[in-house]
Amino acid sequence: MMRTETQESISAWAEHVFGPAGSNARTVGRANEEMAELIRAATSDRPIHELVEEAADVVIVLYRLAARNGYSLDAAIDAKMALNRIRKWTKDGTGHGYHVRADKGEAR
Ligand SMILES: [Mg+2]
Repeated sequence: MMRTETQESISAWAEHVFGPAGSNARTVGRANEEMAELIRAATSDRPIHELVEEAADVVIVLYRLAARNGYSLDAAIDAKMALNRIRKWTKDGTGHGYHVRADKGEAR
């Protein structure tokens, strides 16, 4: 599915509605508030669409963080996934894991 909204359109909307995003700390704090809402949605019996909406809210604020710092979150994700794909990983048994640091041989 082709997305309608972009980092640019989201950031332009937010700046129009809220004004310029304050500091990186405030923007990350706002993202953390949305993450807390996502955690509440994930740990309750709320309908799944609320989980999806809260996940979107987190990404929306992260797009704003990227925009105020002059980088593309989508490009950063592509670059980070390229790195992730060549890293070594440990599994924690929950369907998640941590990458093994080459310099220390430990997972983090
Ligand atoms: Mg929310």
